[in-house]
Amino acid sequence: MDKLDLSLVSPLNVVPDIGVKRGEKLARIGFRTVLDLLYFFPFRYEDRRAVQSIRQLVPGVPAGFVARIRQIRKKNIRNLRVPLVEADLEDDSGMVRAVWFGQEYLLKTLPPETVAFFFGKPEVSPYDGLLTVRSPVVEKMESEKKGQKSFHVNRIVPVYHEEQGLSSSFFRKIIGTILASLWGNTFDPIPSAILASCQIMGWFPALVEMHFPKNLPKGADTDLLLMPEYPPRKRFVFEELFFLEFLMGYKKREIQSIPRVHARTLPPDGMSRFERGLPFQLTKAQRRAMGEIESDFARPVPMNRLLLGDVGSGKTLVAAWGVFLSASSGLQSAFMAPTEILAKQHFITLKGLLEPHGVSLALLTQSVRKTEKRDLMEAVHQGKIHLVVGTHALIQDALSFSSLGYIVVDEQHKFGVEQRKTLINKGDNPDVLVMTATPIPRSLALSYFGDLDISLLDERPAGRPPVRTEIISGGEEETFWDKRIGPVLERGEQVFVVYPLIEESEKEDLKDATSMHGVLSAKWPSAEIRLLTGKMTWEEKESTMESFRSGRTRLLVSTTVVEVGVDIPGATVMVVENAERFGLAQLHQLRGRVGRGSLPGMCFLVPGRQASSEALERLAILEQTDDGFVVAEEDLKIRGPGEFIGTRQSGLPAFRVANLVRDAETLLVARKLASDFIGLVPGNPAEHTWEWTTLMNFIQNRYPGVEDWLMIR
Ligand code: ADP
Ligand code: MG
Repeated sequence: MDKLDLSLVSPLNVVPDIGVKRGEKLARIGFRTVLDLLYFFPFRYEDRRAVQSIRQLVPGVPAGFVARIRQIRKKNIRNLRVPLVEADLEDDSGMVRAVWFGQEYLLKTLPPETVAFFFGKPEVSPYDGLLTVRSPVVEKMESEKKGQKSFHVNRIVPVYHEEQGLSSSFFRKIIGTILASLWGNTFDPIPSAILASCQIMGWFPALVEMHFPKNLPKGADTDLLLMPEYPPRKRFVFEELFFLEFLMGYKKREIQSIPRVHARTLPPDGMSRFERGLPFQLTKAQRRAMGEIESDFARPVPMNRLLLGDVGSGKTLVAAWGVFLSASSGLQSAFMAPTEILAKQHFITLKGLLEPHGVSLALLTQSVRKTEKRDLMEAVHQGKIHLVVGTHALIQDALSFSSLGYIVVDEQHKFGVEQRKTLINKGDNPDVLVMTATPIPRSLALSYFGDLDISLLDERPAGRPPVRTEIISGGEEETFWDKRIGPVLERGEQVFVVYPLIEESEKEDLKDATSMHGVLSAKWPSAEIRLLTGKMTWEEKESTMESFRSGRTRLLVSTTVVEVGVDIPGATVMVVENAERFGLAQLHQLRGRVGRGSLPGMCFLVPGRQASSEALERLAILEQTDDGFVVAEEDLKIRGPGEFIGTRQSGLPAFRVANLVRDAETLLVARKLASDFIGLVPGNPAEHTWEWTTLMNFIQNRYPGVEDWLMIR
């Protein structure tokens, strides 16, 4: 065979047999270079080492064989509803018959002369004594050159997901061809010292084994090749995590090399002054996080920090501390929240905390009136306002600051990368604090926020008992409202009732917030019961929330608009209907809405009638623990990282072989090795080595567009 001269970045049209049409299809699935295809790993394998010739077939013994279609025809049999497809198959040693029931398309896909691989159990036909294989598995083989070892048989073969009508057999053949042309390649993107230190297989041998495994004992299950311990797979799991952590570490270091623009003067007695104004004592964790922010402010480079804490751990206060410090250096702050309700509430809280210290605040949301908005923006522009709290309205072009030094983004995952960037660009490399609504597992934090420093609030304010959680099922639903909720209302406490949807879904018979509002209002005519849905106008929502906050409204029936951080001290009970439709972290967030005052909180989860037993088991986790970090780990196991954190917004590639739950240990190893390799300061001599350049180039080829991600702060 002519030696094909391929490099890893060769475009796919230089690979023989791809052609224009298939090239276009490959491009549609995002495959442009040789490298892209090499990383398209099979999802399973088939052991075709013992391929037989037709003459070797034995009745009753399942076997695989390669044959040519000599003839294929449709047969209508009386008493048989579906037609039969019958084919005569031959190889150099003999002939055998194959029959399929009702698979007429085979007449088209397997015309005479087609060569294919068959697998099935031959039997002697009781009608005519001919050896017949019934309904064999068939795989049409991409034609191959004669005299060359086949990619399709006599080995363990990879099976690929078919995409855009491109068959597994097609992928097998071109990937095989590419590997053959790269034979003997000694390239490796990962520095050799790192490979050696964790005994990871080399790049090319690992690739070959991923696609065409050789080391499986005879008779062993091919699924062993899918295990993370399988050395080639282990290599790519490590590689994926190492690349990620390299990117994270590199980005973090680059951000930290941008000098701080705004000098800060930090008052020596700041923390005690701040604390004196509070009606309670700071928790140790709050004090620690506040100290971390303060020392970040004292550094010559801007802060980039994630504040991670359970629901109710007091994140708002910690964030407010940064505003306090900034204002005392004459710097402005912006605090962005995902919803109007939440922005309004933060505004009220922050006002209470900060105004006594002379901090001037403004609230900016879509619903602020035009003239008011104009005045407000002017005041911000002139530096008369220290803190602007708001929603996405903060990123509008018209808003400009005179000296924006500190930014807080609450529930950062609700904002896109671009939105955060736009806000950050309103300042000169400001300090940034991001917060999440619920705790996220460590493995996720390190991978998706690996470019940030992390402050952990692992403690909740003392004196607040945990929210008790109970699943209401098995007939208890009937008496639930009278027995459990009635007394709560009589005691004068307030109740949230949350629904997953706002409108009746005929198909799934979801109880719906609107109709339940009617039912409950009829049940307790003297109590004020209100409805809150996403479809209401801002004014309606606001007056409803205000009435609930003031205690006038006793029971609030709502869709998940309350999910995000609302703080109603008099609310003690949370009822979640169709609870199985929510994620665990979301439910944890919901139950965190109650028991925030002096009285203990209670959460009732009411699953729908169709809830599966798995769903109920999942909900039981919430009965067992009140620790948001434990809940988060469980949720990650169930839903995977994408769902959990909205990774589609992160701008980073999704994992192909690594799994953050399973491979958390490997992640830590990869992180350590990557950060050692990167070094602490830019200009690290390692950066000018061939190894560094190779790694960086490779990652950029592997993940096109990642440069953009690296640029976004
Ligand atoms: P989250 O971390 O969920 O955003 P918040 O910041 O909304 O929590 O705080 C929850 C409640 O706890 C608020 O009512 C807040 O005033 C109160 N809080 C915060 N810190 C303390 C503390 N150290 N001691 C007592 N209560 C606190
Ligand atoms: Mg909050």
